[in-house]
Amino acid sequence: MIDTQIEMTEYWGNPDRCMVCFKEPEVEQTWKGETKIELVKHHMCYFPEKIAYVHYDCHKKIHDIPLHTFIQYQEGDARKFYDMKKDKENDS
Ligand SMILES: [Zn+2]
Ligand SMILES: [Zn+2]
Repeated sequence: MIDTQIEMTEYWGNPDRCMVCFKEPEVEQTWKGETKIELVKHHMCYFPEKIAYVHYDCHKKIHDIPLHTFIQYQEGDARKFYDMKKDKENDS
């Protein structure tokens, strides 16, 4: 399969900074020492794809409140996006 489509995924911030509270990832104490809890990738927009790194709890806030700065997609875009992904997998 030849994929001529250029995928332009835009990342907001980086994996070491939550875009909601601007704090670093939380650290969990385990028997091995400190483990960084990876930030969650939140889709702010699907077309084009825009992803923000956020804490698990901050991510819940985005969707529960909701925080409109972080939700730029239209209703139904998430479904369309994942349907397209599924189609792609099917033809490869
Ligand atoms: Zn946060
Ligand atoms: Zn999200």
